[in-house]
Amino acid sequence: MKIHIVTTFPKFFESPLDESMMKRARQREVVQIHVHDLRDFTTDKHRSVDDYPYGGGPGMIMKPEPFFACVEHIRAEHDLSAARVILLSPQGETFSQKKANELVQEPALIFLCGHYKGIDERVHQYLATEELSIGDYVLTGGELPALVVIDAVVRLLPGVLGDLDSAVGDSFQTGMLDYPHYTRPEEFRGWHVPEVLVSGHHARIAQWRREQAEARTRTRRADLLKS
Ligand code: SAM
Repeated sequence: MKIHIVTTFPKFFESPLDESMMKRARQREVVQIHVHDLRDFTTDKHRSVDDYPYGGGPGMIMKPEPFFACVEHIRAEHDLSAARVILLSPQGETFSQKKANELVQEPALIFLCGHYKGIDERVHQYLATEELSIGDYVLTGGELPALVVIDAVVRLLPGVLGDLDSAVGDSFQTGMLDYPHYTRPEEFRGWHVPEVLVSGHHARIAQWRREQAEARTRTRRADLLKS
């Protein structure tokens, strides 16, 4: 998979993309991630990416031209005429595991990160193919949301997790929350691992896990059972 990120803060991505699973995925070339500095697509000597809002009011608005120029460059240079362009926005569709499962099927994705008061509406309307929000709150920029979406998608690519089956049983993939997990020691500060898990009885363990997942989902997220 090829991922392109358009941002005014390219350094933001250095460490998160160079640790853990994301680092492994890039080293194994399961994913290629290109970070583009939006300021490289400006034409004035101050490399401005924002301007005052028409109609007045507080805050600065990100200009449309650099976004269009950058995406057109990515499409031409990387032969990505059909790639989806995802604009991170608190007004977008709320990101979900279902959406991650959908996006992982794509050969390439382009992410646009906003900042300041927001982005010129023409980017929303005529450049982005969709808008994604990571929740009902407002962050300073689209960089963290882009990382959240990218992490959730990349970990689903074959060759990233040690065992892809472990992702299949995760919360939301099954329509329920995950069951509780334990590891050694069997007893810690007087708290014991449930007896069934050390019984070696695979059918009983599977049934216990199913029941736990259901009970946990019913108490914490009954809405998932309904849908
Ligand atoms: N004025 C905008 C509004 O109320 O909808 C908020 C702009 S926010 C301060 C600046 C940028 O951060 C947005 O353009 C978007 O890229 C990003 N952002 C902030 N919160 C987000 C969220 N919950 N999900 C996705 N992106 C978000």
